[in-house]
Amino acid sequence: MCNQCNYKSLLEAADLEATANRLDVLEVIGGNSYPLSAGDIHHTLKRRSGINRVTVYRILDLLVARGILDRISTGGRAFYYGMAPNKNHPRHPHFYCTRCGQMNCLTPDSLTVDAEALRKTFPGRIDKVEVRIDGICKNCMK
Ligand SMILES: [Zn+2]
Ligand SMILES: [Zn+2]
Ligand SMILES: [Zn+2]
Repeated sequence: MCNQCNYKSLLEAADLEATANRLDVLEVIGGNSYPLSAGDIHHTLKRRSGINRVTVYRILDLLVARGILDRISTGGRAFYYGMAPNKNHPRHPHFYCTRCGQMNCLTPDSLTVDAEALRKTFPGRIDKVEVRIDGICKNCMK
């Protein structure tokens, strides 16, 4: 859950107009405690504003490209969206249940990867380090 991010200033800092649809998308994603699929986001918003699916996808692509949102892969065709790391959201690993498809946020210190050590020797540029743990969640274990 987030009540610390100012979505309007996040958009403006990325040189984007704070349109009602963009703010709605950020509110749904930022207000959720785990990452959401594009379908989940559209499902929530269509009752609120009647926004169509194509517009949701376009906004998601734009906000990922501008570094406001993170697109988290499942290793398959599905993607989930969460807030990109910022001063209120430290980078953290995710857990993906391969049985029910639920993606959960883990605490930032639950598993640390020292990308700085790699950065010192890696000859190219590292833009993003994504850590996803796959397994079976506790609900599916029952
Ligand atoms: Zn936030
Ligand atoms: Zn599960
Ligand atoms: Zn997360």
